[in-house]
Amino acid sequence: MHTELLQWFRKAGRELPWRKDYSPYSVWVAETMLCQTQVGRVIPRYFLWMRRFPDIFALAEAPLGELLRVWEGLGYYARPRYMRKTAEKVVETFQGEFPKDYNILRGLPGIGHYTACAILSIAYNLPYPAIDGNASRVFARLLDLSLPVETRKAQKMVFDFALSLIRKGEARLVNQAIMDLGALICVPRSPRCSFCPVRQYCLAFQRNTQIIRPVRRVRSLKSAEAVVVFCHRDGQVLIRRRPEGGFLGGLWEFPWKENASPDELIPKDFRDRDSVPELIGEIFHTYCQRRIKARIFFIDVNRETFSSEEYHWEEVNRLDEYPFSSFHRKALRLFREFMVQRRVKET
Ligand code: SF4
Repeated sequence: MHTELLQWFRKAGRELPWRKDYSPYSVWVAETMLCQTQVGRVIPRYFLWMRRFPDIFALAEAPLGELLRVWEGLGYYARPRYMRKTAEKVVETFQGEFPKDYNILRGLPGIGHYTACAILSIAYNLPYPAIDGNASRVFARLLDLSLPVETRKAQKMVFDFALSLIRKGEARLVNQAIMDLGALICVPRSPRCSFCPVRQYCLAFQRNTQIIRPVRRVRSLKSAEAVVVFCHRDGQVLIRRRPEGGFLGGLWEFPWKENASPDELIPKDFRDRDSVPELIGEIFHTYCQRRIKARIFFIDVNRETFSSEEYHWEEVNRLDEYPFSSFHRKALRLFREFMVQRRVKET
């Protein structure tokens, strides 16, 4: 299997921007961005990141707002903060060189088991299996695992099997080959088994169980409702910055609340006379095992009487300079469409 896999990878493996120099820094940045995010979304952000923060020294000194702006859209906003902390530590303690030791890497902020294995194997070519989502699916099929892949027992079986495939000096090749096999051939819904270089070794293929592998633990999403209000006056809207350290800390947002009405967000006294919140649409967003349905409102606010330490006014056409979470970006898109239609009606 090892020979067929590597022959296939040498011919068909993906050319990705972080597969040029295999520096620990570029591997770390790419693998951190790729966690839970598709390659197509990561590539432009990776280029942007590398232009702004080309090495660990530049990252260690980067302002948080700029990091969040470059990261925007990738989700999991605690990651860039951890990355900067890790950069500071690597610069201060290891003279800018990532350690080659699994336990020391795990001690750095935000570096988990997968990222440590990815740095050690892909950057340093040391024998550690790096099992991302794609690789985990491939192994669950090769072994025809009937256990959910998230279970400890299944993870151990997968890890041991993956380790057995790595020969001396080939960790980088083998790990990337398995990742690419999962991304290009052993894809989630319809695996392309007739093109698969390792099908003769695949138990799921032999038993025709590919479609039901990997078995997943069923987790139900909780539903929630929310309102977002665009408080507008003279081409400006209210925004606020989320507190540092908390969930989505440091990102900006519009007034919003779960299980609330627009009136609870903006007291009536602060509005222009006769203005009422106008529903401009709905968005759906999923995060942290929750599916949120949000109604988006627009309202004219009397700026002279509205004052808040929490919120401040910003020009609508400057909002792209702020990092927002994907949830608030979706709401902003809807607001912009609404403003275009409003202008058309007024003319
Ligand atoms: S034979 Fe099919 S199920 Fe098995 S590893 Fe290849 S693509 Fe995946």
